[in-house]
Amino acid sequence: AGSEEADEAVRGTCEDASICKRFAVSIGYWKDPYIQYFVRQAKERKAPEINRGYYARVHGVSQLLKAFLKETECNCQIINLGAGLDTMFWRLKDENLLPKKYFEVDFPMIVARKIYNIKSKPPLSKPIMESHSGESFLIDAHSLDSSRYAILAADLREAAELEEKLKKFNMDTQLPTLLIAECVLVYMTPEQSASLLKWAANTFQTAMVINYEQVNMADRFGQIMIENLQRRQCSLAGVEACKSLDSQRERLLLNGWETANAIDMMKVYSYLPQADVKRIEGLEFLDEKELLEQLMQHYCICWATKDSCNLVQASLVG
Ligand code: SAM
Repeated sequence: AGSEEADEAVRGTCEDASICKRFAVSIGYWKDPYIQYFVRQAKERKAPEINRGYYARVHGVSQLLKAFLKETECNCQIINLGAGLDTMFWRLKDENLLPKKYFEVDFPMIVARKIYNIKSKPPLSKPIMESHSGESFLIDAHSLDSSRYAILAADLREAAELEEKLKKFNMDTQLPTLLIAECVLVYMTPEQSASLLKWAANTFQTAMVINYEQVNMADRFGQIMIENLQRRQCSLAGVEACKSLDSQRERLLLNGWETANAIDMMKVYSYLPQADVKRIEGLEFLDEKELLEQLMQHYCICWATKDSCNLVQASLVG
C-alpha cells in the first residue's frame, strides 16, 4: 500500500517514540518499569520541552483510556493501532485494570521485534502468562495470542485483512471497544485514515477512539516540523487532516463517529493537576517557555464515541 522505503521510515518512528519515553521515565516524569526492556537508553539528553511534551501525551492518552475502563468496568476490549513498543498492557496489569482483551497491531517487522523482546525477557512474558487461562496460547514470529493479550501483524491501510486477523484472535465486535492511534494516522493518506476510522465506527457497536497527533500544521512552525520529518525520509502523508482542531473533529464526524472532541496539548497541559505541574516543572529547568508552548500547540488529542459511549469529558477537562 506504500513504498517500501517510506514504510521503513515510518517503522523507525516507533523506536524514536519509545526512546524519548524511556528518557523521560529515567528522569522521573512518570513510572514505566517495562520500557527499559524494549529500547536502549538515549545516548544524549532530550530537551526539557520534549520531555514535558511526552508527559502530556502519555498522561492525556492514559486519562482517557482509564475513563473508558472505568465506564465499562473493564468489561471491554482495547485495540492499539500502530502500538509500536508501547507498554500499556503491562502497566494496566500491575494496576489490576486489564480489559477483557488487549490487542496490539503493527507492521510485521515491529511485531517480530516486540515478540522477540517478550520471549527473551521474563518481566515481559510473565505477566502475559499470569493473565492467561485455558490452552490456546499461541506464539510465533509474527503473532502472539493469549487470553488477555494479543499482538498481530497487519497493515492498517487494509481494513478487511485487519478485521480478519483480529477476529481470528477472538475480537468481539459486540463488546465496548476502545481504539487507540497514537502518532499513527498522520503517516497514512487522508483516504487511508478516513477508511480506517470508518471501518472502526462501522464494525463496533459501542466504541471510542483516541487519536494523538500533529495539528495546526499549516502555519510556519508546522511547516518546519514537516520539513524536519521529511529530512528523515518520513513523509507525513496525512498532514491534510492535521490542519486544525476543526479538521480533526470533522474527519471523525464524517466517518461515522457520533461525538468528536479535539484539544491541543497546551490545553491538556493546562488541565494537569497543579501538583503534577509543580512536580514535573521541578524536574528540569526550562528556559524556553515559548518553545514548549509552540510545540504543544502543534499536537493534539482527539477522542470520539459512538452508541451511548459518552465518555466523561471531565476526565481530561478539569
Ligand atoms: N503508538 C506508539 C507510540 O506512541 O509509542 C508508536 C508510534 S510510532 C510514531 C508509529 C507506529 O505506527 C509505528 O510503530 C509504525 O510501524 C506504525 N504504523 C504506521 N503505519 C502503519 C500501518 N499502515 N500499518 C501498521 N502499522 C503502522
